[in-house]
Amino acid sequence: MSKISNNYGINNNNYYYEQRSDLEKELGWVLATTASGLIYKSLPSFSNPFLKQMSKEHANNHLYKDVFIKAVENSGLKEKGLKLIHEANPQTDIGRGLNACFVPATKEIRLNAEKATISGFHELGHAMNNMKGGWGKFLQKLRGPGYAIAGLMGSIALLSRNKPKGEKRDLKDLILDNSGKIAFAAMLPTVIEESMASYKGVKMAREAGLAEPLVNNLKKFYKKALLSYGGYAIVTGLAVYATSKIMEKFTRPKKIEY
Ligand SMILES: [Zn+2]
Repeated sequence: MSKISNNYGINNNNYYYEQRSDLEKELGWVLATTASGLIYKSLPSFSNPFLKQMSKEHANNHLYKDVFIKAVENSGLKEKGLKLIHEANPQTDIGRGLNACFVPATKEIRLNAEKATISGFHELGHAMNNMKGGWGKFLQKLRGPGYAIAGLMGSIALLSRNKPKGEKRDLKDLILDNSGKIAFAAMLPTVIEESMASYKGVKMAREAGLAEPLVNNLKKFYKKALLSYGGYAIVTGLAVYATSKIMEKFTRPKKIEY
């Protein structure tokens, strides 16, 4: 154990700050990574409802397929270069009909058209966001950086806190202290863009003539998809928050009064 001198050193107030031992810091690291791992284990409970309904909907594909093709025609995006790619490779989630995606770089909607056209309207919503510009496109552009920032916060939260609690905070300290909130906030643009894509998708499905009971089912399904995105943001925020608090507890210099 060593006393911190100079910067935060011994002063006239009957206390001093003591550096934490390497052992304490290592213990903090182990606990923090374990806690974060346990929190991430709750992720499937957010994504399972979606996956479950997705598999169930394979049998109903015929109810959605023609309307989906019509919605794509109605969107006017084909004229702007939108392509539909049928993917049936059983090695991929998309090929198995468990996922679908819109690829901004190539303007492609990729899905298994024999199983998963129920997902297509939402992807068409992403295509709208991307190809019509506006807020949707802006939020879409924040997706990559947002996830990178969230990942970075996960690493930053694991750093040792060398500054005592009462000391003046600089920008670096503020980032360290708020890493959980920053990670969560960085993922929010994606959650919002996802809900916009669903909203537009449902609207286009209705306009293309999807029967109201099926529209309702579509909404239910897309809510579950949003739950998986929202859950990912919440779980990431909590995992980073827990990491940060544990590291703080085990590495921040201790105030010793005498
Ligand atoms: Zn989406």
